[in-house]
Amino acid sequence: MQPILSCRDVMVDFSGFKALQGVNLEVDHHEILFLIGPNGAGKTTLLDVICGKTKSTNGEVRFAGEVTLTKLSEQKIVHHGVARKFQAPSIFLQLTPFENLEIAMKQKKGFLSMLFAKMTQTQEEKIEQLLERIGLYDVRHQPSSSLSHGQKQWLEIGMQLIQEPRLLLLDEPIAGMSGEERTKTGQLIEEIAKECSVLIVEHDMDFVRNFSTKVVVMHEGKVLCEGSMDEIQENEEVRNVYLGR
Ligand code: ADP
Repeated sequence: MQPILSCRDVMVDFSGFKALQGVNLEVDHHEILFLIGPNGAGKTTLLDVICGKTKSTNGEVRFAGEVTLTKLSEQKIVHHGVARKFQAPSIFLQLTPFENLEIAMKQKKGFLSMLFAKMTQTQEEKIEQLLERIGLYDVRHQPSSSLSHGQKQWLEIGMQLIQEPRLLLLDEPIAGMSGEERTKTGQLIEEIAKECSVLIVEHDMDFVRNFSTKVVVMHEGKVLCEGSMDEIQENEEVRNVYLGR
C-alpha cells in the first residue's frame, strides 16, 4: 500500500534563505511519526508545506499516493483529509465544547448557511462520542473559557477529528501541560492512530520516548536521520547537532 504521505525532495526558499533543502519523508497509514530537531531545523516549515500554508519552491508532497498536495490550496488540502492543529489555541472561549465541535463539524460542509442549520440526531451523537473520547463529556455544556489548558488543547484536537482526517498534523501537542495531561494526551494520540496517521513536531524527548514509533530528525532544512528513539540516540551526527555534544 502507498504511504498516506510522501514528501519528495521538498524545498522552500524564503527570499534566498533555504529553509528546506530537499526533504524526503514518508508517513504510513496509522503511523505515529515524530519530527524532532533543533530550532530552525525546518520542522514547522515542513508542516506548513504539507497543509498548503507555505508553497514549496521545488519537490512534491503526495497524499495517499494519488493527490499532489503541493498543487492545492489550503482549503482543498483540508477536504482531502489533512488536518492541522496549531500550537496557539483557536477555539471560541465563550462557547461550550459541544458548540465548538458543532461549528467545526458544520465548517467541513463549507456552507455558511449550515452554521444555522439544526443538527440531526446522528450528528449530535457523533459529537457526544467524540467528547467522550477527548475526555470532555462531563464539561460539554460549560463555557470553554473554564477549561484547563490541557482540556482546551484536547478540544482543539477534537475540532480537527470531527472532520474525519486521514492525516493529523500536531505542533507540540503537550506544550504547557501538567504531567497527568501529558499522559492523557499520549493515550489520546495512540487512540487517534487507530483511525488516522499522526505527524507530530515535538521537543519533549521524554514524551517521544513513551511511544515505540519512528522518529525523524531534521537539521538545517534536511532529514538528518530516522529510526527508533534508541537508534537516534546512538547516532553520532544527532548527538553532535541535536544534543549539542
Ligand atoms: P523549526 O520549526 O524547526 O524551529 P522553522 O521551520 O520554523 O524551524 O524555520 C526554519 C528556518 O526558516 C528558520 O531559520 C526560520 O527563521 C526560517 N523561516 C521560517 N519562516 C520564514 C519566513 N516566513 N521567512 C523567512 N524565513 C523564515
